[in-house]
Amino acid sequence: MSTTSTPDVIIVGGGIGGLSTAFALTRRGLAVRVLEQAPSFGEVGAGIQLAPNCTRILGDYGLLDEAKELGVVPTAMVMRDAVDATELTRLDLVDLERRYGFPYLVIHRSDLHALLLRACQRVGVELVTEAHATSYENTDAGARVMLANGGVHEAGVVIAADGLHSVARRLLVDDEPVSSAYVAYRGTVPVAETAQRAIDLSEVVVYVGPGCHFVHYGLRGGELLNQVAVFESPKALAGDEDWGTPDELDAAFAATCDAVRDGVPHMWRDKWWRMYDRDPIMNWVHGRIALLGDAAHPPLQYMAQGAIMAIEDGWVLAEHVGRHRAADGSVEWGAVLAAYEAVRPEHCRRVLATARAWGELWHLDGTPRLQRNVLLKARDIHDYAYTDWIYGPTALVPEDEPAMYPLMPLSAAADVAGVG
Ligand SMILES: Cc1cc2nc3c(=O)[nH]c(=O)nc-3n(C[C@H](O)[C@H](O)[C@H](O)COP(=O)(O)OP(=O)(O)OC[C@H]3O[C@@H](n4cnc5c(N)ncnc54)[C@H](O)[C@@H]3O)c2cc1C
Repeated sequence: MSTTSTPDVIIVGGGIGGLSTAFALTRRGLAVRVLEQAPSFGEVGAGIQLAPNCTRILGDYGLLDEAKELGVVPTAMVMRDAVDATELTRLDLVDLERRYGFPYLVIHRSDLHALLLRACQRVGVELVTEAHATSYENTDAGARVMLANGGVHEAGVVIAADGLHSVARRLLVDDEPVSSAYVAYRGTVPVAETAQRAIDLSEVVVYVGPGCHFVHYGLRGGELLNQVAVFESPKALAGDEDWGTPDELDAAFAATCDAVRDGVPHMWRDKWWRMYDRDPIMNWVHGRIALLGDAAHPPLQYMAQGAIMAIEDGWVLAEHVGRHRAADGSVEWGAVLAAYEAVRPEHCRRVLATARAWGELWHLDGTPRLQRNVLLKARDIHDYAYTDWIYGPTALVPEDEPAMYPLMPLSAAADVAGVG
């Protein structure tokens, strides 16, 4: 089966990265087709944190108000020790919004995905399901995707947003996902069921402990409590295939403080997520085929930047489409993809590397844990040295290109411009 019309762009994968990119490129006047392997578009999972480097883009897309209505804008992010519950450090998210010009937002994944899907439908993205891509090739006019069902789709450019197990990535590197031996359990609980736990829903809280951490925050205007419990699996370390099971969950959190142990029984126990990333790669483009999102840079989730990086990728691509448009409307894809590859891989490499290091810091035990706690408690809560490079706009543009700063208020841009 072949399709008759040829869109400007094909995007493989209808996750958060694929849909946000489809929306961004369609806004630039391109005809975009999304090929999704699943029978319908949707997201599995619970909450997701969207830092100012993402809400800035949602603002640019005209989607921020809707996202804020669906989510929660917390006022603080607090890190506590998971063993004794002492506060280690915090980010004042009200001040953070002042600094970066955009809020920190937490939202249900399915709400964010549905919001992006509606936005794609409004602008006329062609959305195709049951389209499992098995191979790719460059053509004289662009690139082509072959599907398991025999379908062949061609376009001027193909963006592979097909996630951690990307098929397209094999065009660029012969690698495999790297297991961290950590596993995540998730769960959402109606807040009414947590009344006895005295949880402050205006805070995103992460409890860091030996070989484990626990996160909670409110969702859907404070109706739901989102919880994530992450731990290192002894069975994974022993090479057991059947790892990350609920018995391991209970054992991992047995020695944590009351606040964490009270949350553990509310995790979903029929599904868990083994945590993989991949080593960073700096080459994401193969002719007219480019990787995006987790296909290019799947991180461990400790920086809460995976979906955000995917959204940033799409914004940068669309921005360069706007800059490399000929008078007849055609896009100089070579220039667009070169610019994309010049801006994004180094930033994402840094996020991936920092996420691994961050995970090690969170999960310390013994004396190193106590040393970490002393250092974190000494941190000035308005010290932005660790966030400027992520939440500021430098991930979207090379530092010598201030022209895109108008996406943020000038006062904040001036602060960020001096930061490396
Ligand atoms: C516990 C946990 C917490 C996280 N928290 C955060 C957070 O707070 N903030 C944040 O920014 N990120 C977070 N992340 C990371 C984030 O979820 C991912 O980085 C993000 O979802 C990646 O989006 P994507 O669109 O690139 O890939 P995916 O979400 O994996 O989407 C890929 C899509 O492609 C489709 N597909 C795959 N293969 C094919 C094929 N061959 N043909 C056609 N379609 C295909 C899939 O069905 C899917 O729809 C977290 C991750 C985890 C595990």
